[in-house]
Amino acid sequence: MLQKCEGIVIRATDYGESNKIVTIFTRELGKVGMMARGAKKTNSRLSSVSQLFTYGYFLFQKSSGLGTLQQAEIIHSFRTIREDLFQTAYSTYIADLLDKSVEDRKPNPFLFELFYQTLNYINEGYDPDIMMNIFEMKVLPVLGHYPVLDRCAVCGSTDGEFGFSIRENGFICHRCFSVDPYYFPVSQGVLKLLRLFYFLDIHRLGNISVKEETKKELRKIISAYYEEYTGLHLKSKRFLEQMENLKGML
Ligand SMILES: [Zn+2]
Repeated sequence: MLQKCEGIVIRATDYGESNKIVTIFTRELGKVGMMARGAKKTNSRLSSVSQLFTYGYFLFQKSSGLGTLQQAEIIHSFRTIREDLFQTAYSTYIADLLDKSVEDRKPNPFLFELFYQTLNYINEGYDPDIMMNIFEMKVLPVLGHYPVLDRCAVCGSTDGEFGFSIRENGFICHRCFSVDPYYFPVSQGVLKLLRLFYFLDIHRLGNISVKEETKKELRKIISAYYEEYTGLHLKSKRFLEQMENLKGML
């Protein structure tokens, strides 16, 4: 039976002489793997549609295992992302994180929209660091993690000075600092951004401009949180860090 879905290619792997296996995150079905026969050949009509980040309508033959991609109609190919090494590295990590966060064929239209909008913002030139952090914060509940970001995670207080505790799973107030001697002392701006990223409706994102130092703080906390709770060690993340170091040297 043939099925048509709206989706974005989040992984593409060569298979044999001329085929590719593509993983597509679809609005209707969630994550679906498909065989794209002949897609490695440049003259194949499936070659351009099976590239990473292609957004389109995909028509495929359903089966219990891998589906077979029949044809596709491109809506958007995120050209700016593909032509920029840094944007590609950020987007690859985000797609990888999405891939590792969801099981096959579990529809999640919220996540589809979040992923699509995130790529869209990066493609339009929004700060990819910030877009990555927003995606990382928003995908936490999908991974089963709910950091406490609107009160003290220990005593529930909403006033005072706050820090971030990995162990206590969120903000802690100055009265509770002694509970976790390893808490991160963080600036007011960072607390606000962490909360904003987590609760924000992605459609309402204005142009956020964040200082390098604040970005460093954000990255440190989010990375430490991921390290502690998610068990994910993504190659694409390591690659991105190497790219960042390279950028620092240029
Ligand atoms: Zn407290």
